[in-house]
This record gives sequence, C-alpha cells and structure tokens, in this order.
Amino acid sequence: MITSHIRPDGDGLGSGLALYWMLKNLGKHATVIMKDPIPKAYGVLPGSELVVVSSDVDEKYDAAFVMECSDMERPGLPSLKDQFIVNIDHHSTTRCFGSINWIDSTAAAVGEMIYNLCKALGVEVTKEIAECIYTALLTDTGSFHFSNTTERTLKIASELVKRGVQPARISQALYYSNPFCKIRLLGMALSTIQRDETGTIAWVTMTQDMMSEAGACEEDAEGIVNHALSVGEVQVVAFFKELSPGIYRVSLRSKGKNNVAKVAEVFGGGGHRNAAGCRVEGDFEDVRNRMIEELRSAVGLTPVTV
Ligand code: 5GP
Ligand code: MN
Repeated sequence: MITSHIRPDGDGLGSGLALYWMLKNLGKHATVIMKDPIPKAYGVLPGSELVVVSSDVDEKYDAAFVMECSDMERPGLPSLKDQFIVNIDHHSTTRCFGSINWIDSTAAAVGEMIYNLCKALGVEVTKEIAECIYTALLTDTGSFHFSNTTERTLKIASELVKRGVQPARISQALYYSNPFCKIRLLGMALSTIQRDETGTIAWVTMTQDMMSEAGACEEDAEGIVNHALSVGEVQVVAFFKELSPGIYRVSLRSKGKNNVAKVAEVFGGGGHRNAAGCRVEGDFEDVRNRMIEELRSAVGLTPVTV
C-alpha cells in the first residue's frame, strides 16, 4: 500500500500515484490509501479516482510506502504502525520512522525521487507516471519559482514533457479551474493583511465566518499565503486559518535564507526552510503575538519588548 499525509497535496499525491503506476508496471498489486479526500483540482492526475479514502488501514500489506511524511502521525492512519514501513521523503527534518528510510533533502519533490527510482529500476516512464511526477514537481517548486528548483528539476521536467506531459493542461487544471468561492475567500482573507513595523513580517487571517460567507471550504484556502509573500519587502508570512474557535492551522512562508521550518518546529510542526506549517491552540492575539516573536528570530531581528 501507498499513503501520504493528511490533506494531500501535489507532491504527496503525485509521488504516491507515480509509485502506484510504477509498481503496477512491475506486475505488483498496490492500493493507494489516504485519510482525506483528494482536492478536486488533482482529479487531473491519472489514478486519482482509484485512491481509497479511509480513516485507517485494515489489512496487512507486504509493505507500506509512506510518501512525504515527516513523522508516523502525518498520514493520520493509526494502524499504519503495524505495517512494514518504507519512508520516502525529502524533508530535512524527517524522523527515520520506517524499517527502510530513503530521505533525499536535495530533491525538489518526492516526485523527483520516484523519477530517479523509475530510472534505476529500468521501468519505462509512461505518460501516467510522467503526469504524476510533473504535478509533484510543479506544485512543490511553486511552479518552478522556489529555490528548490535546480538544474536537475528542470531536466526531469523536460524529460517528462518528452514522455507526453502537456504543461498547459496540468497548469489549467491546477491554477485556472478555481471555483468562484475560492476567489471570494481570497479577497476576504487578503483584506486582513498586516505587517510589523519593519515591514518584513506580514500576516493574514482567515476565519470560519469568512469561509461560510464565501461558501468556501478549507481546500479553497490553498495558496492564499503566497499572495502576502509577493510584497517586495516582506521576508516571512504567517497565514492563520481558524479551524474552530481557538484552534488555528498556521502556514509559514519565507524568502531566501529565512528559515520558517525552525519556527514551525517550535510549535510542534515542521516543513522546509521556505514553507512550513503547524497547528496552534489558544486565544488568537496570544497565538499571533507568539508566532510573530518567533518569526522575528527567523528573519534575524531582535525581539522588541512591548
Ligand atoms: P502548508 O502551509 O501548505 O499547509 O504546508 C507547507 C509545508 O509545511 C508542507 O509541505 C509540509 O512540509 C509542512 N507542514 C505543514 N504542516 C505541518 C505539520 O503540521 N507538521 C509537519 N511536520 N509539517 C508540516
Ligand atoms: Mn514535497
């Protein structure tokens, strides 16, 4: 079986499905199991309709491939721990929770690792595999904008296009097929943007009220955080998403060497240098102030006592 983290994204799904097609082409039986439903946009991925959405694993498999997860809790499948675990990830903060651990923090996406695996095993990179890996690369590099985009990433992307990927078709599905409510939600959330006195730290807040007013769901909040980072002077951004009163998911983004993974770790989360996240509980003002203080250290500013 193959799984990835809760609220699956382009790399978790893309690398998982690429591995699924690869195993299938090797004559193996595989099942992809995810805790949460597949966001609609990822319906473009071949095999997305085969993903089993389940709250646990209730069969014994020869092996369970855990894609793009920094710990055993990320997939949200309690009985997963009883399987033979193969941990495949590109986060530098990943714990070696598997019986086999393959961690490559130089890979832009786990999809890039699966491409290398395909080559190493002599499995043909079919159009299905190519589309899944391309989606993983595209989403984890922020459309080839982020610093994890390397010569190797672009070379692989080029190879995938040669195998039949149509970049415009994938981009159309992922970035130009938004429901109207998503853009309304973006407008509401973005209007809350604030910055600190240095102008380098910005934050955006999204409440449950905004979601219901826009008729949007949590999935529609994807990507909002990046708009705040598009401001020239802004170096780090925190996006506070209210899950329920007093419970927030925080998405952190940064430019350059500013490390937000370290900040997320302080709050029990994790991620990459330029994209990380965590979950925090408490009074909103408290949560926000604590987060801003930690972000000051990420951008190398001396904390100011208020
Ligand atoms: P997002 O802000 O898009 O939800 O997450 C950005 C990145 O941060 C993810 O790709 C993942 O690497 C990491 N991340 C987000 N939330 C968590 C979390 O709760 N725990 C850990 N370990 N990593 C997280
Ligand atoms: Mn990834």
